[in-house]
Amino acid sequence: MACGSCTAVVGVDWGDEGKGRMVDYLTASHDIVVRYQGGGNAGHTVINDKGKFALHLLPSGVFRKETVNVLGNGVALDPENLWKEIENLKGKGISITPDNFKISDRASLLMPWHREQDELEEKRLGEKQYGSTKQGIAPFYADRSGKKTILAGDLLRPDVFASKIQDLMVWKNLELTEVYGALPYTLKDLDEWFQSYCIKIAPFICDTSEFLREAEKSGRKILFEAQLGALRDLDFGIAPYTTSSNTTASYIPVGIGVAEMVPARVIGVMKAYSTCVGEGPFVCEIHGDEAEALRKAGQEYGAKTGRPRRVGPFDVVASRYGASLQGATELAVTKLDVLSGMEKIPVCTAYLLDGQETKRFPFPSDLDRATPVYTDLEGWKCDISGIRRWEHLPAAAQEYVLFLERSTGVPITFVSVGPERDSLIIRENKEKEV
Ligand code: GDP
Repeated sequence: MACGSCTAVVGVDWGDEGKGRMVDYLTASHDIVVRYQGGGNAGHTVINDKGKFALHLLPSGVFRKETVNVLGNGVALDPENLWKEIENLKGKGISITPDNFKISDRASLLMPWHREQDELEEKRLGEKQYGSTKQGIAPFYADRSGKKTILAGDLLRPDVFASKIQDLMVWKNLELTEVYGALPYTLKDLDEWFQSYCIKIAPFICDTSEFLREAEKSGRKILFEAQLGALRDLDFGIAPYTTSSNTTASYIPVGIGVAEMVPARVIGVMKAYSTCVGEGPFVCEIHGDEAEALRKAGQEYGAKTGRPRRVGPFDVVASRYGASLQGATELAVTKLDVLSGMEKIPVCTAYLLDGQETKRFPFPSDLDRATPVYTDLEGWKCDISGIRRWEHLPAAAQEYVLFLERSTGVPITFVSVGPERDSLIIRENKEKEV
């Protein structure tokens, strides 16, 4: 049975859909914000009254004093990057304490060699590289599945930790030196890492599954925040250009260790146009001046890497597939303001694959042969960033949103028209309004 006090905010497409701003907005009506998968390889950008922040591993609820933030067992727990992120936020006056931030004792540690191995493997792949952000996520999840892992809870048990790290180092050095010809790690290197970062995050570690179960029993509302989007899901995304974890809402109960926490409300976030970071097929990709203008208008540069994002028109085929993978009960469309000023707005409504028009998202290795079929919608030639009510949007902008709603088959309940906390049009009662 679905959990009525649980809401998930998940990505419908390739990631960077603007989930961070949705979580930041929704934290006001939730008590706890939980990350349940992924690592610090992407980044949510949040703009609020305290400033502009790029978050990588910390949940977006850290900006509200009364909100408790949780990293579940499913995340890639990188002590070094996490501690740097905490220090950076503390420097900007954000208070992070064991009362408002908790790390699952069952989360596995991303080791210093994972980042190095990620880089070495991308180099080895050369032109066939996956486009990794080189944060060590793929080697981390591979080792975790192979049980070559140290749990966060081991940091609270120094004898266990010392023995595990010795064994792991011997094993990993074989791989680093023999496969990649890299230098081996020493216990001194690892002790430095332990002293500089692991000890610092230890006070936040506890049994978060128990905490969440108790919280739900006492009526607290819980928000789940995903990283990346459905098309990057390990099982159902665009293999092999996926991430190494499940980005879909169905992973939540596993990634937090509470079987009954299947959120009743799943908000799929999608941009009013398409963007994609990294390699892999991207059917709607556009190039040249047109692409540069959209990239500039939408500020499409990666929050973690600064890499220019690939851009294109909204892709109905991909987004309908993504929304259905997520089991989205409603959708939020972000960055509608970025399209303002365009005469006509193309939308990809189908793919042409081997001479056949299809609305089904193809099998990953068939995607390279797909080309987009476009329909042009009317643009609106005015600034909409100050609008806060649905009925004040120009008719063409309303029609654009309604077209996306009809073609994805999921109600659009939020329309975002700017990055700021309040730049949001709420259509929760849209059935009555339209
Ligand atoms: P996330 O990883 O899904 O949270 O996405 P990112 O934070 O990487 O990317 C979203 C970017 O778009 C951030 O820079 C946001 O501040 C910005 N953003 C979010 N919603 C809107 C919007 O409606 N309009 C505009 N102009 N920018 C937005």
